[in-house]
Amino acid sequence: MTNQFIPLVDLRHAGNMLRVPAQPIAPSGSLADARGRMLRDLRISVTDRCNFRCTYCMPKEMFGKDHAFLPHGDLLSFEEITRLASIFIAHGVEKIRITGGEPLLRKNIEKLIAMLSALKTIDGRDLDLTLTTNGSLLAKKARSLKDAGLKRVTVSLDGLDDTVFRRMNDVDFPVAEVLHGIDVAHQVGLGPIKINMVVKGGANDSEILPMARHFHDTPFILRFIEYMDVGSSNDWRVDEVIPSAEVIRRIHAYMPLTKLQPNYAGETANRYRYLDGKGEIGLISSVTHAFCGDCTRARLSTDGKLYTCLFAGDGHDVRALLRSDHSNADISAAIAHVWQKRSDRYSELRSEQTTATQSLQTKIEMSYIGG
Ligand code: SF4
Repeated sequence: MTNQFIPLVDLRHAGNMLRVPAQPIAPSGSLADARGRMLRDLRISVTDRCNFRCTYCMPKEMFGKDHAFLPHGDLLSFEEITRLASIFIAHGVEKIRITGGEPLLRKNIEKLIAMLSALKTIDGRDLDLTLTTNGSLLAKKARSLKDAGLKRVTVSLDGLDDTVFRRMNDVDFPVAEVLHGIDVAHQVGLGPIKINMVVKGGANDSEILPMARHFHDTPFILRFIEYMDVGSSNDWRVDEVIPSAEVIRRIHAYMPLTKLQPNYAGETANRYRYLDGKGEIGLISSVTHAFCGDCTRARLSTDGKLYTCLFAGDGHDVRALLRSDHSNADISAAIAHVWQKRSDRYSELRSEQTTATQSLQTKIEMSYIGG
């Protein structure tokens, strides 16, 4: 017996068969869900593997050395991902975010980036093609990703102090290497670069001010993410959440801030800039300030299931249609059918009834569908 914890509820094999509706809906580039939210963003997880074990996402106790990752044959191929991306674009997707696990672990990822960057939005613009990484391989890969057509990156970094960093990601990886990766990404022109810090009370909240000071007066946008009950394995407790208002209070005391308007509807972060004009920060407040009302994000899991919410319990098996010779029109209609019925609002529900929500459902692991 490798661990004494409750076995991980493996939802990867749970999923709804995706049906082709009798009356297919022709893609029109503007697909609204049941709450009128347009489909604009697609997050694609290209691997369920990671070289970190962040305690809020992939705790070592659950993802130990015996954990069975998805066999390669189960992963969507680059051709399948690109085909699906073009179908989603026809429904209005303008932004594609490559995620994981750790996406830079996927072999030849640059090849996929090149295939996706050749796609255009329905009105002929470049896709906003971005990628979220833990930065461990960024210094090595930044140039080839840029050359392949990647526009920008978001780097997860939960502290500057190596002890704290280790406490959060549970591997012996030096902060300096991630900071070096960020610098190289900047040098090759992958920007604007965003830095995501998940803030967990009692674990790394002491790093809020050091991180703010470090990225102040730099071209990088630091975003603080409220610790969330993603998946079913991080043992989330609401008393470990540091509300964004508290993060603002701590920074404002030393470096005054003022609120900014969102760049676009559906932006997850609330933006603030330093009064001295030397940079901006973002607050992603899923717990204290739910933003489901204009959530435009769909997610594709590593093995081709469509999820309509980060906190979903099960997905819709698109890969089955792909691998059973259904036409693009069939697959497009099936995706449209799922999105039009979508009414997800987990964070709002959590805010309305925090205690109850936790037991509402077993949630898919974030490392499988990307953040
Ligand atoms: S909880 Fe679900 S619906 Fe709400 S913002 Fe997050 S992904 Fe969107």
